[in-house]
Amino acid sequence: MKYIEPHGHMVSRTTDDYQKMAMAGCEAICEPAFWAGYDRASVQGFYDYFRQLTEYEPARAAKFGIPHFCWLCINPKESEDAGFAREVLSLIPEFIDKPTVLGIGEIGLNKNTKNELAIFEEHVEIAKKYDQPILIHTPHLEDKLKGTKLIIDALKNAQVDPSRIVIDHVEEHTAGLVLDNGFWAGMTLYPESKCTPARAIDILENFGMENIWMNSACDWGISDPLAVAKTALEMGKRHYDKSTIERVVYQNPKTFLSNCPNFKI
Ligand SMILES: [Zn+2]
Repeated sequence: MKYIEPHGHMVSRTTDDYQKMAMAGCEAICEPAFWAGYDRASVQGFYDYFRQLTEYEPARAAKFGIPHFCWLCINPKESEDAGFAREVLSLIPEFIDKPTVLGIGEIGLNKNTKNELAIFEEHVEIAKKYDQPILIHTPHLEDKLKGTKLIIDALKNAQVDPSRIVIDHVEEHTAGLVLDNGFWAGMTLYPESKCTPARAIDILENFGMENIWMNSACDWGISDPLAVAKTALEMGKRHYDKSTIERVVYQNPKTFLSNCPNFKI
């Protein structure tokens, strides 16, 4: 079954993972800029990371026949030092026109602090200035609902088109809020913590199959780069037909990503 991995942190994965994803039917991988498993000590560290995302990782993915795209930003986890974050933001214009860049992301909130929110709003201004879609990270656990509300308020204040924004890591208590306000919603699948495949399908059954995607994050922690493909199998076990499954794992991300002029498969 063909599918798109719309949110995978491939810089932390091995070539074996690329091979497995290619064999499972992955037609494209989109990699948001995020925390790399450690705090970078300098702005130069981000410069190198943006080069990795825009040059090296697409070449690595191409060896397995998978187109690789990316989103650019400084993530909220490393945005607490606003001066440092602004220096990183100043690098984005140099990379924004690279041929595989999709937009600004994954921006958002981690601990819902004032500084994180300020840097979030500055990213949104960059997205507006360069007419870019946005991919958003919402905080985990008890900070998620409050953080999601803060993010939606900030986006409304900035008057950006919600149909060009995907708010990721939604769960049962935030999916409705995101979708009802006209945004796209993403569900992040993890084998142990957060959203398991079975729980994600329950969420689809409660909130519908429109304007929603699933991703595996496949990052530096315990995560499964095949989580989307495994969830498609799980949907089959629940007797969803092939076209419904393909709509969720392939057509929906493709539809959202058509907002990004550089996205081509
Ligand atoms: Zn992520």
